[in-house]
Amino acid sequence: MATYTPMIQQYLTIKADYQDAFLFFRLGDFYEMFFDDALKASQELEITLTSRDGGGVDRIPMCGVPYHSAAGYIETLIERGYKVAICEQVEDPKQTKGVVKREVVQLITPGTIMQGKGIEDKENNFIASISLFDNGSIGLAYNDLSTGENKVTALTGGFNEVVNELASIGAKEVVVGDNLPDSFITELKERFSMVISIENNDNVMDRFSPILSKIHDDSLIRTMSRLLNYLFKTQNRSLDHLQEATTYESNQFLKIDYHSKRNLEITETIRTKGRKGSLLWLLDETKTAMGGRMLKSWMDKPLVNLREIERRQSIVESLIAHYFERQDLREALQNVYDLERLAGRVAFGNVNARDLMQLKKSLLQVPYLIENLRLYDNPNVSELVEVIDPCVELTDLLENAIVDNPPLSIKDGSIIRDGFNKELDQYRDASRNGKTWIAALEQQERERTGIKSLKIGYNRIFGYYIEITRANLGNLEEGRYERKQTLSNAERFITPELKEKETLILQAEEKIVDLEYQLFLTIREEVKGYIPRLQRLARTISEIDVLQCFATISETRKYVKPTFTDDRTIFIEEGRHPVVEKVMKSQEYVPNDCYMDSERDILLITGPNMSGKSTFMRQVALTAILAQSGCFVPATRAVLPVFDQIFTRIGAADDLIAGQSTFMVEMLEAKNAIIHATKDSLILFDEIGRGTSTYDGMALAQAIIEYIHQNIGAKTLFSTHYHELTDLEIKLERVHNIHVSAVEQNGTVVFLHKIKDGPADQSYGIHVAQLAELPDSLIIRAKEILIQLEQSEGKEKPNIPAIESNSITKEDQSQLSFFDQEKIQGNETKHEKKILQELIKLNIVEMTPMDAMNTLYKIQKELKSR
Ligand code: ADP
Ligand code: MG
Repeated sequence: MATYTPMIQQYLTIKADYQDAFLFFRLGDFYEMFFDDALKASQELEITLTSRDGGGVDRIPMCGVPYHSAAGYIETLIERGYKVAICEQVEDPKQTKGVVKREVVQLITPGTIMQGKGIEDKENNFIASISLFDNGSIGLAYNDLSTGENKVTALTGGFNEVVNELASIGAKEVVVGDNLPDSFITELKERFSMVISIENNDNVMDRFSPILSKIHDDSLIRTMSRLLNYLFKTQNRSLDHLQEATTYESNQFLKIDYHSKRNLEITETIRTKGRKGSLLWLLDETKTAMGGRMLKSWMDKPLVNLREIERRQSIVESLIAHYFERQDLREALQNVYDLERLAGRVAFGNVNARDLMQLKKSLLQVPYLIENLRLYDNPNVSELVEVIDPCVELTDLLENAIVDNPPLSIKDGSIIRDGFNKELDQYRDASRNGKTWIAALEQQERERTGIKSLKIGYNRIFGYYIEITRANLGNLEEGRYERKQTLSNAERFITPELKEKETLILQAEEKIVDLEYQLFLTIREEVKGYIPRLQRLARTISEIDVLQCFATISETRKYVKPTFTDDRTIFIEEGRHPVVEKVMKSQEYVPNDCYMDSERDILLITGPNMSGKSTFMRQVALTAILAQSGCFVPATRAVLPVFDQIFTRIGAADDLIAGQSTFMVEMLEAKNAIIHATKDSLILFDEIGRGTSTYDGMALAQAIIEYIHQNIGAKTLFSTHYHELTDLEIKLERVHNIHVSAVEQNGTVVFLHKIKDGPADQSYGIHVAQLAELPDSLIIRAKEILIQLEQSEGKEKPNIPAIESNSITKEDQSQLSFFDQEKIQGNETKHEKKILQELIKLNIVEMTPMDAMNTLYKIQKELKSR
């Protein structure tokens, strides 16, 4: 290091503290990067890699971005999961000999970025921290720096529960001490692409007290403090908008693990991972960004407290009943900007006058909101109105201080309204008077010289001047004005009086710009004092927005208010799957009832593939989630228990991508449900056991049903393609068969999507194969095998004799209608023969349905390719 130049030594010293970040090292008008940072950044940002002599043996790789356009580059790096340390010159280069002092002034990270590409209006950007406690429980705190929200909870379900919670809130970055297990860290990094940051300091600082005042548990205080230490360290400024942290316990909400949330496509779809097609997408009729974020958090955490659910319901009901009033309410909400994030930016000191205008416009809507909400005659609505704080003084301040259409820049004036500040008005008078005087002078000189085209202009270099075109110069009496500048077709002149006025005007204008900037800063400071009130207001408005969203959706999509019962009965009449119903175009969605009571804990659902089993199961779960969020539900009548947890095992195609075998995932999810479910839970098991061989799968499925039946008693929807399981209805008293009906018409299946009592007649699998146009002979053979299987039922293991290879070509030729008879006799039969031979060799009883499908597909492809 000694051989490096002092500046490079300085760079290396600072960089040592920021190993996991790009160090943006300020050099004049550029942020420069060196060494490995330069190599990596030049690729990520597609900027030129150069090098410089740094005193060492080799030249040092270097690349840089201009400081005034750095923001875009920084956003790109952050979006890709990197961190950026901003290192500024902290003393004036002109005043120093030697190397200018430099310091990192801010560390920008994926979890702390406030605006830019990765930040969506209707999404929170959470950063979390985790602490491991002595008693084995784990503290979780999280924060959204853009809104100032802080939440903290203790989780007792081990790292699994923590991963679930982190994934559900979509944390971008997780701050941990260096004592956490590697496997946990790796999972967060690799499966969820979360950025991990180390912060070992969990000491409580004085300035945290307003944030921590509601937390009473010492361990949780430390968990939150770890996060706060990290935030203050990286942001390196006052964070006045950080809100008092709220604590919660996971059993205050309907627990749904992350897998199940994904399976049910609550906030994103499985296939695209996008919002479109999810329950949230269907529901989102919110008018404000904050309402959108609150809706998402409500869907993420439905309630279990009946009183609170019913409070929400009653407001939704009133809003539905008042159609016109609700339209007015929506219109008022439309004009409310993102108060939460505005407040955050006020605290950060990066709001401009336009932002303050948005704040004012939003506040001006509040009186309308209050007036509107008084119309509903509902005590729960009145309660909301009572806590709305219109922040009148702030509205007045902004109204009086700032012009209607201020410019983006806060340094060029034209922001402050006339009459707000006496001194400013005086300067403005001076400037205006000067300008009037100049206008009068122009008029007067035109008359005196008789030159109509004479004009007075202004430019930055020469100030005010009188301009006369060359053609008119002859009419100008010599010596009237002082010559200043010659253009190709005109001359410019000045007079002592003109210059005197000019000085007055320019001085006044300079004063105006300075004063306006100062005034703006004072106003901004004053607005800071309102941040907590604005945040409270934002919360109430968000809540109203989500409730009107529920009302709007419930009305337009014809949902009904569910009622709750404590006798664990589910009664859904004409229920629909909210999203499938919406996206189905031509066909009508077939509504279905779901009835479960103390005699029916487990519904065993049979029916052919594609008949609607999975859809039916999901619609029951989504109905429960909507109900416990306070929304109405897609049905004509609904009575539900308040569930404590929902578990699902629904086959998802992308399990394979995640690297675990489908069957292992299936078993892990089943285990999770079986261990944690109570009699108040809802379990959806969709074709459990499909991932293994038939007998294995069937045995497991039956054992699982028995276990739930004997030991848990949770309300369970269990779909299966194992027909044999339907006998369980006789053996287990609270198991009940239902099926999705299909009818056979002209030898093919027609799906009715209608749920009926009892087991399905047959699995129709062969009919589906027929629909897929498999060869006739194959279908016929399958039917034969089926009959033999059915006959051998009850025996230990059915023994299906394999078909004899020569019997096909000789005796069964008449059945091979799909083969061209001519070809059979010719040379080309070899290929088909080979396929038939393969078919004969298949050990069907050992195959999973998936294997069978794949094999059939291969065969068909081979035949078609001929
Ligand atoms: P299964 O699980 O029995 O294989 P799915 O539930 O996946 O069947 O449903 C297959 C398709 O049938 C769905 O994609 C949907 O288009 C349609 N479907 C399901 N239920 C209904 C219904 N109740 N009304 C109309 N169409 C339905
Ligand atoms: Mg299915």
